[in-house]
Amino acid sequence: MAKQCVFCGEKAGSREHVLPAWMARAAPKAFTESSGERNLYTGGQMKVIPHKFATMTVKCVCGTCNNGWMSRLEASVKPFLMQLTRGEQIALGPAEQTALATWSMKTAMMMLRASYLDDPHPIPKSDYKHLYEYGKLSMRRMRANAFYVEPPGDDEHHIWGDLRVLPFSTRYRGYQVKLRVGWFAVQLLSVALPPAYEIGQLGRTLRAQPLWPAQADQFTWPPLKPLPYETWLAMEPRQLAVMKRPV
Ligand SMILES: [Zn+2]
Repeated sequence: MAKQCVFCGEKAGSREHVLPAWMARAAPKAFTESSGERNLYTGGQMKVIPHKFATMTVKCVCGTCNNGWMSRLEASVKPFLMQLTRGEQIALGPAEQTALATWSMKTAMMMLRASYLDDPHPIPKSDYKHLYEYGKLSMRRMRANAFYVEPPGDDEHHIWGDLRVLPFSTRYRGYQVKLRVGWFAVQLLSVALPPAYEIGQLGRTLRAQPLWPAQADQFTWPPLKPLPYETWLAMEPRQLAVMKRPV
């Protein structure tokens, strides 16, 4: 059976660059050419395979999605994404925050598709469907926080990026994705909630900058002090305030 596009269900097979090729070209070669490792989950087994964060590709989407909305999403973050990864000062308005949160989730999804080959997948199908149908994250049951994180290593040799997913199950099922590229890191939270419920706004703890839902005003990035890499790594799925929606 031909593989289906994870977003629209059409025939998959279009090669998608997990990180845009222009991004890998613009980043210092010392970072993008360094190889690392990642876990590969297939057939109930976990293998550790060699991995290049900057140039990985997947074939889980169709040409229409890849060259259509996914390509437009990449274009919407292109004007400022490299500055973010280099920790350069920049102002992000509501439109940029929305684009950045959406792009981060799309990128995390593609990266995880390269590592988890079978179901169950850490990100439920409903979240792919939401991203495809609405072109952004759910205001009701998803949150995103941006962090300014000091990359491990020094200026000559650091690991350019990493990704982690942590499913959690408290009263509600959900997952946390942590994606870092250079000095820019983002924490995405998604919870499965009954229709009458929503999650509250995230607080500004641990130098977190709320990114989604987008803030009404622009903010200046980066914050004054970066978060140590170890603190970022150790960050657990946080306690979320879940409440009944006003009727
Ligand atoms: Zn598609």
